[in-house]
Amino acid sequence: MKSVSESQVRDVLDRLQVPGLGKSVVAAGMLSGLVIKDGNVGFSLEIRPDEAEAMEALRQQAEQAVMALDGVTSVTAVLTAHRNQGNGTQQQGAPGRSGHQTQRPQQQAANRPDVPGIKAIIAVASGKGGVGKSTTAVNLALAFSRLGLKTGVLDADVYGPSQPRMMGISGRPVSLDGQKIHPMENFGVKCMSMGFLVDEETPMIWRGPMVTGALQQMLREVDWGQLDIMVVDMPPGTGDAQLSMSQQVPLAGAVIVSTPQDIALLDARKGLNMFRKVDVPVLGIIENMSLFICPNCGHESHIFSHGGARAEAERLGVDFLGEVPLDMVIRETSDGGTPVVVSRPDSAHARAYQDMASRIWEKITSSGESRAAPNIVMQ
Ligand code: ADP
Repeated sequence: MKSVSESQVRDVLDRLQVPGLGKSVVAAGMLSGLVIKDGNVGFSLEIRPDEAEAMEALRQQAEQAVMALDGVTSVTAVLTAHRNQGNGTQQQGAPGRSGHQTQRPQQQAANRPDVPGIKAIIAVASGKGGVGKSTTAVNLALAFSRLGLKTGVLDADVYGPSQPRMMGISGRPVSLDGQKIHPMENFGVKCMSMGFLVDEETPMIWRGPMVTGALQQMLREVDWGQLDIMVVDMPPGTGDAQLSMSQQVPLAGAVIVSTPQDIALLDARKGLNMFRKVDVPVLGIIENMSLFICPNCGHESHIFSHGGARAEAERLGVDFLGEVPLDMVIRETSDGGTPVVVSRPDSAHARAYQDMASRIWEKITSSGESRAAPNIVMQ
């Protein structure tokens, strides 16, 4: 099938009139963050906060118009509204209807609608499954919590949600007010998982397409309260589902977990490229299962030529955040619902996670790009 181009999408949106304005969506400068990947199209329409309801029909028309193009397999249009800063100035790129500007690529990331109450969201991702992404995500989350940060974990790994098990949580979340879902909680960390929403019987083929809707629901229809940081355990890989998720969550950054073999096979690099494509800063790479520690004698074996991630990170110009050995204790504690950071907080492994969490938090808070300031609202 022939693939669709940016200019074709722009053309079709340039024929869609904004009601009451006498201008097209493109001419009014409402179109931003256009991303096309293998026939999947995503973009935002910038509106004023008070226009959200009135513009919903336009959003749907925009989706339908783009969907009708040859070579388009899915379309996701979101309405984003910039909140006035209250000091007389407005966000660049949203200076009111008549002066809408099309965003430059580096500004696109800031256009993902913020989640009120959550200061920073980070993704923990990997080029493929089984590298220890969930183990890293849960231990980092618990380490953030031990730093005194209000923390949540959002398990978006629709193919193999493991956070309920790793966080030692059973049962299902409920809604106390009939509107918002109350998140589950253990060790002082709030948790929601795809596993709570997607039936185990759901065939794999449906899971990818369900990701985006379910993710939005878990982000926005869950009563997270005030969080300093949310850790999103991403589905493994760098396909369309992962790309569209990274596009739709206001990520402050992404952490890539890889094993030494994974580095050799360039899978980690694919993850890196995916986040770069959607303008999400890569906070760094973590090497998991870097070396094997014998449970009997404590001997260290460098099975997969450990150290590759550090060298590769250097080569690619991203930070190396740290390494975690392949150790039975890490497997037993995370699979048993008491990750090493909480069950053995004084161990060297826990310290490694604690150090990485501090480094990540430092990077998020010191980068001028932190999305902590809630200046964009989703209506
Ligand atoms: P992913 O999320 O990448 O699919 P998981 O975090 O579920 O991977 O890890 C896969 C398996 O490997 C789990 O049984 C987990 O406990 C184990 N594991 C992960 N990291 C380590 C490690 N550093 N040492 C020992 N076992 C580990």
